[in-house]
Amino acid sequence: MFGISFTFEAKDGLLDRNRILGVDLGVVNTAVLQIWDCEEKKYDWLSWKECKLDGSRIIEFRQRVESRKRSFLRSRKVSGTTNQYSKGKKGRGTQVKIKPIDHLNNKISNFRDTMNHQYSKYIVDFALKHNCGIIQMEDLSEYTEKVKEKFLRNWSYYDLQSKIEYKAKEHGIEVVKIDPRYTSLRCSKCGCIDKRNRNGEKEQAKFKCVKCEYAENADVNAARNIALPDIEKIIEEVMPRKKKEKKKRKRAKKIA
Ligand SMILES: [Zn+2]
Repeated sequence: MFGISFTFEAKDGLLDRNRILGVDLGVVNTAVLQIWDCEEKKYDWLSWKECKLDGSRIIEFRQRVESRKRSFLRSRKVSGTTNQYSKGKKGRGTQVKIKPIDHLNNKISNFRDTMNHQYSKYIVDFALKHNCGIIQMEDLSEYTEKVKEKFLRNWSYYDLQSKIEYKAKEHGIEVVKIDPRYTSLRCSKCGCIDKRNRNGEKEQAKFKCVKCEYAENADVNAARNIALPDIEKIIEEVMPRKKKEKKKRKRAKKIA
């Protein structure tokens, strides 16, 4: 996906607000993109290669860093000494002391920053290329701890979303955050919401509707739900929130 670098500008500076780009954030796939056209009332056909932002580079990097962290902590325990880094390291003429763990943490944050810049650029360029005036993403800030943790553990969604918002704004694209409740369980074809649509932990990547048998990659299906303009209302009608929950939660945040 990073093979070609392109920057698209919207025709006449006007983007189509009837075309919504849905962004589903995840771990195996950092993001999956789908487009809903409100006038044509259908999803765009997109190739898998084009609509998926692979997360393998991030996963590999994390694993490398984690194992270095572990081996450092182990070696310190065994020998009771510090390693070369803590004794001071030469850097551009000055003597700087960098603790190995800080050094690794810096590496992680620099890598994350670089990757998220690339990802956000790809997503906003994608919206411009396909003439989408709106980008819809999950509002994960108030969502259940379980989901938040799962993602936070693996990557900083917050940083990526901020970068997308910032770049979208520069091009006049509106960013809408929606409640992600049931977006991964809802069938984007017939609307059926059922736990069995996601056949257990073993087959995380697969979605198969128990009602209409629509089968799709789970992230593509979720991104399709996220791309719908009134998805919160649609889901609320089928799965009403308890009153207490409703009060706690504000309506979809709009950032334009
Ligand atoms: Zn279905």
